[in-house]
Amino acid sequence: MTRSLTILGATGSVGSQALDLVARNPGRWSVEALTANSDVDGLARAAIACGARFAAIADASAHAALRDALAGTDVETGAGPEAICEAARRPGDIVLTAIVGAAGLAPTLAAVERGATLAIANKETLVCAGPVVTAAAAASGARLLPVDSEHNAIFQVFDHDQPDRVAKIILTCSGGPFRTFSRNDMAAVTVAQACKHPVWSMGAKISVDSATLMNKGLELIEAHHLFPVGVDRLDVIVHPQSVVHSMVEYVDGSVLAQLGTPDMRIPIAYAMAWPERIATPATRLDLASVGKLEFEAPDLQRFPCLQLAWDALRAGGSAPCILNAANEVAVAAFIAGQVGFLDIDAIVSATLARIASGPVGSLAEVVAIDAEARAGAQAEVTRRAA
Ligand code: NAD
Ligand code: MG
Repeated sequence: MTRSLTILGATGSVGSQALDLVARNPGRWSVEALTANSDVDGLARAAIACGARFAAIADASAHAALRDALAGTDVETGAGPEAICEAARRPGDIVLTAIVGAAGLAPTLAAVERGATLAIANKETLVCAGPVVTAAAAASGARLLPVDSEHNAIFQVFDHDQPDRVAKIILTCSGGPFRTFSRNDMAAVTVAQACKHPVWSMGAKISVDSATLMNKGLELIEAHHLFPVGVDRLDVIVHPQSVVHSMVEYVDGSVLAQLGTPDMRIPIAYAMAWPERIATPATRLDLASVGKLEFEAPDLQRFPCLQLAWDALRAGGSAPCILNAANEVAVAAFIAGQVGFLDIDAIVSATLARIASGPVGSLAEVVAIDAEARAGAQAEVTRRAA
């Protein structure tokens, strides 16, 4: 049976890999809606190629250009942040959330509130508003299927019926491009070096997060919301080959893992086709040619972002939201050449120290804290850039 699919963030790394799977599987999905931030041409091209019914661009000033690009087609158009939420509210069976950053929050909630099945790639939304999203999902019956490779791996080996049998969830971490660098070495790294991930090819923001290990910190918080076994049962291990995508240890000492080549189309296809499994063009895992799988403990001194995320997770309340907002501002400033690589953890740390954290229970509260943290982090960027 054909299922309808909406992709939020269709022009990005995850979104375009999802569209590649749609093109390879005619009849499996019909595309309800696609969205993008400002890439009119990419959005229009994708909408025409997959026969989407609706295309929305977040940049309101780009509406006329989008209309022009889609003139003569049946694709309806929308623009502005509200149009992205409208895309999420339209009746797609599955909504893939592949927007980067907290910008994904409102549309994700819109899809959750109507009880859709969500294939979640947009981890920042779970980090800044995990309790709000999971409570809304419990109320509406929305299903949350993780796309992030680690969480997808855990989902595949997790005993969903008897979670009390889980002793530990172990997230694997590639270590990023600076795994062996000293802090001194890191002081001089460029944006291009930070974005050149040793195994995965991804969008710029998550690539920088992988270099600071903030990505693993965000993923710890994401795991906490998707698999609520308790903070003390979460762990991280560095595994440079990125073949073991994560592990679940059971009370009897058994450890179950999901393995595969590092190709995001595997977890994207798993979430989009669930509960079925479909073929993907991903290269098959050949362990004999991989030869060696290595593991090491993460170094929290050289990678303080991971420590900051651990602390924010334990503090709870608004701390993860502050962490995420400050990180988004710091990473954007690094990419723009305003601050150095080592300023990222310093900006996040200073913002967390400066803003008192408290409980969060609603979208409005999350939005307010996110804005306050962004302003605080921006002030820190300005101070450091001067
Ligand atoms: P990307 O930068 O390549 O693409 C982001 C998409 O979001 C684009 O379509 C862009 O137009 C859209 N977007 C950006 N800002 C927006 C805004 N303000 N409003 C509306 N739309 C906006 O990012 P990506 O690498 O595809 O990552 C997307 C999400 O998936 C992130 O949360 C990332 O952490 C997560 N993720 C990505 C990968 C990967 O391999 N790329 C792996 C795991 C998780
Ligand atoms: Mg991941």
